[in-house]
Amino acid sequence: AQAEIGLIGLGVMGSNLALNIAEKGNTIAVFNRTVERTREFYEEAGDLKDRIIPCETIEEFVAAIKPPRPIIIMIKAGEAVDQQMEILKPHLEAHDIMIDAGNANFRDTMRRFDTLKDSGLTFIGMGVSGGEEGARHGPSIMVGGLEESWTRVEKVLTSIAARYEGDPCVAWLGENGAGHFVKTIHNGIEYADMQMIAEIYGILRDGLKMSATEIAEVFATWNKGRLNSFLIEISEIVLRAGDQLGSEPLVDVILDKAGQKGTGKWSVIEAQNMGVPATGIEAAVAARSLSSMKTEREAAEKILGLPDVPPLSIGDKAAFLADLENALLAAKIGAYAQGFAVMAAASREFGWNLPMPTIARIWRAGCIIRSQFLDEITKAFTESPDAANLIVTPAFAAMVKETDGPLRRVVSTAVLGGLPVPALASALGYFDSYRRARGTANMIQAQRDYFGAHGYDRTDGKDSHHGPWGSGLVAERS
Ligand code: NDP
Repeated sequence: AQAEIGLIGLGVMGSNLALNIAEKGNTIAVFNRTVERTREFYEEAGDLKDRIIPCETIEEFVAAIKPPRPIIIMIKAGEAVDQQMEILKPHLEAHDIMIDAGNANFRDTMRRFDTLKDSGLTFIGMGVSGGEEGARHGPSIMVGGLEESWTRVEKVLTSIAARYEGDPCVAWLGENGAGHFVKTIHNGIEYADMQMIAEIYGILRDGLKMSATEIAEVFATWNKGRLNSFLIEISEIVLRAGDQLGSEPLVDVILDKAGQKGTGKWSVIEAQNMGVPATGIEAAVAARSLSSMKTEREAAEKILGLPDVPPLSIGDKAAFLADLENALLAAKIGAYAQGFAVMAAASREFGWNLPMPTIARIWRAGCIIRSQFLDEITKAFTESPDAANLIVTPAFAAMVKETDGPLRRVVSTAVLGGLPVPALASALGYFDSYRRARGTANMIQAQRDYFGAHGYDRTDGKDSHHGPWGSGLVAERS
């Protein structure tokens, strides 16, 4: 046995990850269910062949890896992983580590972790972000499992991870499902980020009637400022792309139906389970679902028409563009604050002790939501480890105060112009509700008590009460 590590699943992600591992000086054994794919992969590996051991049987594969064997499983998420684990299990020895690197639901990861508990084998649930490019040249890696399993794989994973100013974007985040949970919330935040960008794009396209190329210019400028990030960068790139089949910008001929594979939805479900508001992610998931109802929307536009409103009134264009930039920043702060709040609640619920500054740190490069902004989050959580929410840390409180005005102006302009901005508006609603010490739920408590005798607490701290609701009106009593 000479391989440091093994990998099963030479699809898009697995093959790129394997090449990355070999390129960084590690010897790796690889296996794929369909043998032809293994041969093809090896043939295309070029200079890296020396450090790749292609295996056609599981026996050969397991024998090629140095014990205790870390084995990355990078295949289709779901049942395929359970099947693959069952196939692998009889060939392994105590202390070998199965590492599921796909987009698993963290509840499956917790179950798999428990299933292996008594077998002497261990399990790591590992979130990998950055798509194909990330896998090949440096992803962001979120590890969950026993600390001793992490120690065994730390060196290899550190060698392949993305780097932010030299700092590797990989960390052990806690036991069992911690890594996959954090990856799920990463994706949830990614949904929100993308939706908010799409809403701003909508204001520019439908409100200001700007062309794709003109909008690309706007994003290019923003990418040099505080919004600098991978998603803003690629927004510019996709807006500039021409259509090879016609003369239109490519984005203009792409159908407005967004797909989703589940991580956004899982983020929302888990947030709801724990009673943590994640309105930005909720708005983004709902917007994708609504986008996919293309036929219904077409029918509805025929019946209802577009909103009967005057054209968008923006005043000075340069000032409005500056407002849009700040509004996007404000909304982004809201979505990230919510994502981190969901992780804080999960950390308590599942006993993970999730390290918030570390999570922000390993998202600064490699992953889809990578940005400078995450460096600011790292600093904020390092300086204020006990902050109840990102937006009450000194740096982010200042940013909210500076940008919520522009967000308010942009949301109201869009609403008056009949343009949908559910994610941007959700951030504003979140800020406005979160910062208000006296809310309106006293009304809800009164109603609940009236019809269901649910009781209520009093503002003066006197004993909890039911009603009475029939003892005369205030107006009659005075
Ligand atoms: P691909 O569709 O490219 O590859 C799927 C792989 O899974 C193939 O190697 C296939 O083998 C294998 N496979 C499927 N079913 C089984 C099974 N029952 N038993 C054994 N092997 C099986 O997928 P990706 O590489 O895109 O995705 C892999 C994982 O990574 C998924 O969990 C995905 O969600 C996650 N991921 C993907 C990202 C992306 O950008 N694509 C980003 C981050 C995570 P065969 O050749 O025999 O069919």
